Amino acid sequence: MTILFASDLDQTLIYSRRSMGMDATEQELREVERYEGRPQSFMTRKSQRALWELGNEMVFLPVTTRTQEQYERVTGIYEGEEPPSFAVISNGAVILKDGEPVEEWSDHIRQQCVSRKTIIEELMPEIRRYFSEDWVLRVREADGWFVYLIVDRERFPVERLLEYTTAFREIGWNMSLQGRKLYFMPESITKAGAMEYVKEEVGADFVVAAGDSLLDLDLLESADKGILAAHGEAVRSNAQISSHITVTDLKGIKAGEEIMAQVAGLSIQYR
Ligand SMILES: [Mg+2]
Repeated sequence: MTILFASDLDQTLIYSRRSMGMDATEQELREVERYEGRPQSFMTRKSQRALWELGNEMVFLPVTTRTQEQYERVTGIYEGEEPPSFAVISNGAVILKDGEPVEEWSDHIRQQCVSRKTIIEELMPEIRRYFSEDWVLRVREADGWFVYLIVDRERFPVERLLEYTTAFREIGWNMSLQGRKLYFMPESITKAGAMEYVKEEVGADFVVAAGDSLLDLDLLESADKGILAAHGEAVRSNAQISSHITVTDLKGIKAGEEIMAQVAGLSIQYR
């Protein structure tokens, strides 16, 4: 039996100082990402151990909205020099196999984006039309696939989020607000689609998925078992979830630990 553990990274398995909460002591923390010479993301020692020591029956698949460059900084999610053989990055627009993008996959996604007109050139005028407000600090493009705004959370009008979400949904873009980042994701770019591709490739019989944001929900829905972090955007926005998805009891970096404990339990159960 092969189990695929398909997991989001940020605020699910790995945490910044800002997102980890107050429950972990300094001694418990393990640095998993360094950026510009400084520790950027962490796991607890316990959850890093559990992740490193998943049995041979279990395949770990990182599934992240990070770009390749951002993903490759996260070296603490595996032991030694050998990263997981597959990774889903750019929210599913790119699949890395042995560190290299699978071209046929990204070509297929690109075609879908073009035929549905969900390409950045079509989005930018809409963004300018809706968001001339002073809460947009920066506009970023992620490797030509999607866009995110860095927003000033103090000034961001949360009460209008539903209105924005509905408007952009109608033109084929899903929105997600994570910390200071407001994402605009083409509907053809999903974590679930890329996960299914890898599931076939590795011949997995069972998928357990973990996540925290609205961009993780399709992944959790298409898995056999889903675990949602209690502190995340998906729980906060009262999104509809199916019965095979459970919510953690704990929040912050301790939710990450709870997720890894559950996954390790499954790995033993099916060994
Ligand atoms: Mg996340």
